[in-house]
Amino acid sequence: MNELAERTGSERVETPRLSASASRFISGTKGLLIGGRFLPAASGKSFEVFDPSTGRLITRCAEGDKQDVDLAVSAARAAFENGPWSRFTPAARCRTLWKVGELVLEHADELAELEALDNGKSVSIARAVDVRLTAEMFQYMAGWATRLEGSVLPLSFDMVPNTLFHAFTRRQPVGVVGQIIPWNFPLLMAAWKLAPALATGNTVVLKPAEQTPLTALRLGELVLEAGVPPGVVNIVTGFGEVAGAALAAHPDVRKVAFTGSTEVGKLIVKAAAGDLKRVSLELGGKSPNIILADADLDLAIPGAANAVFFNHGQSCVAGSRLFIQEQIFDAVVSGVAELARKIKLGPGLNPDTEMGPMVSEVQFERVTGFLKSGADQGAHAACGGGRWGERGYFVEPTVLINVRRDMKVYQEEIFGPVVAAVPFKDVDDALISQANDSRYGLAAGLWTRDMAKAHQISAKLDAGTVWVNCYNVLDPSMPFGGFKESGWGREHGHEVLNHYTEVKSVCMAYSSV
Ligand code: NAP
Ligand code: MG
Repeated sequence: MNELAERTGSERVETPRLSASASRFISGTKGLLIGGRFLPAASGKSFEVFDPSTGRLITRCAEGDKQDVDLAVSAARAAFENGPWSRFTPAARCRTLWKVGELVLEHADELAELEALDNGKSVSIARAVDVRLTAEMFQYMAGWATRLEGSVLPLSFDMVPNTLFHAFTRRQPVGVVGQIIPWNFPLLMAAWKLAPALATGNTVVLKPAEQTPLTALRLGELVLEAGVPPGVVNIVTGFGEVAGAALAAHPDVRKVAFTGSTEVGKLIVKAAAGDLKRVSLELGGKSPNIILADADLDLAIPGAANAVFFNHGQSCVAGSRLFIQEQIFDAVVSGVAELARKIKLGPGLNPDTEMGPMVSEVQFERVTGFLKSGADQGAHAACGGGRWGERGYFVEPTVLINVRRDMKVYQEEIFGPVVAAVPFKDVDDALISQANDSRYGLAAGLWTRDMAKAHQISAKLDAGTVWVNCYNVLDPSMPFGGFKESGWGREHGHEVLNHYTEVKSVCMAYSSV
């Protein structure tokens, strides 16, 4: 298994060997992290984890179900109520989270290899982006641990004679948090969830995606090594319909944070409604990316390619509807198509790879199904349009033209390397309503040299993030989340503290002298 070489017919395809530490990590069935120990599932069951570059088995993970979720939640509850974590000073929480960031960077190569193997993304990109941003998220959130202030409130209440009031607010952790994450940025999504929950003093049960559980489990080891006490972070691998659903409905879970599809987001809301758990949701998108005729095309063309092809298009913010002013339409389409044709596809573990496979056979079928439906409905592929290679789940980077608004490829989130390019005539309200004509509202891009237009258009777009003359810039300080069916709430920055804290007003009466 460690040698990652495969024989297909007479052809022997070698991919680079894994480092000793990554090989060690994938040997043997991976357990659930509960109460600081890695345990088999109560049922004894495990599930297979595949390498999407080859379809080969990497390892097995314990298949957590309701019993395991119950155990993990009770470990998290005990750690919240009685454990040393609740007695950590803010400075101690800060130092511990900072240390998690340091350990992530120390193990950057190993984490990037595991991510490339499990998800299929390029090991070089995983190291430069996913691992680095993971460390940054822990270290940014570490700073908030010592800055969770309340305020002193100037009451006007004067209805009790001879009495004055001192009223103030305090921010307290919500308690046990259930976190459910997808497979597109497995390590980074774990960091987006864990870091703010821990900075604010909560305890967590995390359910990674069934396709990509490995880096979250390795991160769980690093979190313990950094000094986060046992039971504060618990990780239950398994299936969404079983482990995820049990977590979202568990009566001792006070808050659920979810990233994934809009359909499952709605199921989470229903599951959490029984006891009115707090819920935050980061869901899908079909983000418009608008290029005005005055834009610097040397920036806008590679920017538009990056907006949709980064992470194989398996990105909730993918700029998948590309609106191009008509006089530059042909130039932009041929420029983006030319860049698409040059993208180097291959196994994630190959350091030269720029784009790996879709994460799974299911996702491959889904994306190629969209390509077929686009072709059937009359869209034309300016480049790409189908499967790449004969093995693994690779899809060609694709630019679709002749796209109409009623087509599925225009309406729905494809979550693959596919962009629909659409011309527009004038920069007017019709353009804005076309860009906003989606049930989603996660992100948007705009390329122009005219800053007056940049301000006016960005103010009118239904999007939680608008990038002007850039795309995919994500920073721990910048609130992130969606309008409309793209979700509830914002992660990152000080906004995320609202997800993970309850505000308590304390009002103390004293006699006036
Ligand atoms: P998904 O089903 O929404 O999965 C996200 C997470 O939710 C996974 O951990 C999943 O577990 C879990 N889950 C599934 N059903 C659940 C339930 N009933 N209760 C609680 N948790 C549940 O997404 P997907 O199936 O992996 O991908 C489908 C589509 O969703 C993609 O093609 C894409 O359009 C979209 N998507 C969006 C994002 C985003 O960041 N916005 C990320 C991923 C996918 P399992 O892993 O066991 O299913
Ligand atoms: Mg799923």
